[in-house]
Amino acid sequence: MRCSSFESRFDEYLDGTLAPHESARVAAHAKACRRCAETLHELRVVDALLLQPRRLEPAPNFTFKAMAEVRALRAPRAHHHLGFGVLATYTAFAWAAIALAFTFRGDLARAAVAVVMLSLRRGADALAVLASSVSHLFGGHTTDVTAAVGGILVLDVAAAAIAIVAYTVVRPRLATHLASTSEFP
Ligand SMILES: [Zn+2]
Repeated sequence: MRCSSFESRFDEYLDGTLAPHESARVAAHAKACRRCAETLHELRVVDALLLQPRRLEPAPNFTFKAMAEVRALRAPRAHHHLGFGVLATYTAFAWAAIALAFTFRGDLARAAVAVVMLSLRRGADALAVLASSVSHLFGGHTTDVTAAVGGILVLDVAAAAIAIVAYTVVRPRLATHLASTSEFP
């Protein structure tokens, strides 16, 4: 028999799961064939290494070294492009909202448009002027465009107000609160 037909039985031979007469044939071949004898020897060494119980102990100064490495690392940089991303996302959503207002012009949309128009007329003149100047670009649907753009602008003003309040009132209080409750002096 050829070496390859014995090699396929080496695992079972070493595990002792081979039938006695098969096992005897492998042993006899290994005695006569130097190559298979060496292969069997290597397999025994690998098996012994795998079976050897090992406990992994960290080096005595592991914690100190790890912390030294961490301190040597540069502080992560703040994400400067976040503001631009938010602005781009917002702009995309605003135009999507305008497109949706044009697509679904049902009774509900008309009611919403009426409310926005009313708030616009009562709102600052600057908003109306800006909205109407934009609406000129759209020709036909002047009222709808004015309402949609006006609605977006009203939301803008509200969002800006919330942002200003959050920045000037909430942020300092939060910072003071965090500083007083921090574990690290
Ligand atoms: Zn052989």
